Amino acid sequence: MMGGTLVVAETRQGAVRDISFELIGAAGQIKQQVGGPLVVAIIDPDPAAHAAALACDGVDEVLAVTSPTAGFEAHIAQRALEALIASERPRLVLAAHSIDALGFAPATAAAAGLGFATDVIEVSWEDGGPVVRRGAYGGKLVAECDFPAKQCTLLLLRPATFAPAGPGAGDAPVRDVDVALDDAAQTTHLGYQEPQADGVDIATADVLLSIGRGVEDQDDVERFGSLAERMGATLSASRPLVDAGWLPAARQVGQSGQTVKPRVYLALGISGAVQHLAGMRTAETIVAVNTDPEAPIFGVAHYGAVMDLFELADELERALG
Ligand code: FAD
Repeated sequence: MMGGTLVVAETRQGAVRDISFELIGAAGQIKQQVGGPLVVAIIDPDPAAHAAALACDGVDEVLAVTSPTAGFEAHIAQRALEALIASERPRLVLAAHSIDALGFAPATAAAAGLGFATDVIEVSWEDGGPVVRRGAYGGKLVAECDFPAKQCTLLLLRPATFAPAGPGAGDAPVRDVDVALDDAAQTTHLGYQEPQADGVDIATADVLLSIGRGVEDQDDVERFGSLAERMGATLSASRPLVDAGWLPAARQVGQSGQTVKPRVYLALGISGAVQHLAGMRTAETIVAVNTDPEAPIFGVAHYGAVMDLFELADELERALG
């Protein structure tokens, strides 16, 4: 391969993560402009197990690199990616803005002199190179970046932001790439510990009932937890409630929390700070309830009510019987 796009798929505990399909979807959108093939690399102890799933619509080839360790190791991924970039010479490399890729991608970009941007929310291809949009200054601004004079650019894309690629026929050819990795591991994987998530994953929830500082008393959190349950929703929150220790970090929506994309996002007493919007503005339908008609959340809401959230809670509880 010369030119084209290299997507670095991500797996965790034996499963391909959703972001992998979002990366392929984003690459597919600009494939014609970038030119060249769309190739997906998988660096995993058992890459063959995932190759067919990654052969989505628009994928020309899957590159399988066998990792010598069972768990993810940043040094191994870095060595493998550097070897792949050297041998395949892509114009564009897409990886996840994830805890895993942040452990190796910046080092790869620095070592290979690549153009580089993290937390990318939009990618286009203009005048022969990538142009991206990403949050800047703690998410208060959206910065547009290009990478003049760079032969290759590595971008980390924000999860749950790009539409995933559709499943393909699964018949893209798979090529084993032999990279000397046995001596690359400088760390030892002791085990995998799930974050304390009290059994919820707000990132995949269908309906989120999200509460903010408008809920002024910790004692009321439980009420909204049971209301969410009765509505078939999952409870999430803005950061101040998590900072106060009222809810675990796994429930936080936003720039320093989770990016969510539910079918319905019901925001109660949340002002709509840029850092909060960064995590939920792509929800399908946003319903905001706030006593302040000027609250910025109304700028992104599809439906809004200027009212006291406790009155709404009373009504919902009555309606649910
Ligand atoms: P407030 O801004 O205080 O808003 C409360 C709202 O409730 C107000 O609009 C008020 O009108 C309304 N209200 C009050 N009483 C009622 C009532 N009875 N009925 C209806 N409405 C009522 N924040 C996040 O949420 N997630 C993040 O990931 C995040 N990351 C950050 C990262 C950085 C680097 C920084 C600097 C900040 C971050 N923040 C984040 C914080 C963010 O800037 C805001 O401070 C926070 O989102 C505000 O939360 P809030 O909307 O609940 O509170």
